[in-house]
Amino acid sequence: MSAYPARCPARNLNGRMCDKPAGQGTNHLGYGTCIWHRGGHRNVEEAWTMAQEIAAERDITPHEALLGLVRTAAARAAWTDNIIFQQLRDHADDGGDPLKPPAELVPWLRQFREERRLAATTAKLAVDAGVMVALERRLDLEGELVAAALSAALDAVEMTHEQRLVALGAAQQHLMLAGADAATA
Ligand SMILES: [Zn+2]
Repeated sequence: MSAYPARCPARNLNGRMCDKPAGQGTNHLGYGTCIWHRGGHRNVEEAWTMAQEIAAERDITPHEALLGLVRTAAARAAWTDNIIFQQLRDHADDGGDPLKPPAELVPWLRQFREERRLAATTAKLAVDAGVMVALERRLDLEGELVAAALSAALDAVEMTHEQRLVALGAAQQHLMLAGADAATA
């Protein structure tokens, strides 16, 4: 737990870090933002309640629990995306128009939108709860999501192990360069 700041992870309007203890004035004391930084909003209180229940069940920290929810939602969206990708490819291989998805794909497209919405909502919840701010220097979540999506894409095109490593290496190099650019910007 010591790796996580016990301070409210939000910034004040003057740009300085909030000096209140994490979760001060809320029902999640010790975690997330304080009452002055949306810590008492219903969504945020509910997010931490849920996170603390999951944390107790699985013997992980509430931060990890909330992040896990975000990951699961993103993975579900990636999985659905993968199914759609494969079906569209089969459709095109059979001579179908790739711009006109087959009828059986329509429910999947609908589900994909739903999964994406859920993933976005969950991520928003975690942001509001202050988890992302607390973790931003420890973990490049965006990089992880990109990696998960990339991995799903590679699974979909049936590469050999070697081809897969080359592809992942190229992507990693690209991401590292992008990261370096962002750091110097
Ligand atoms: Zn605060």
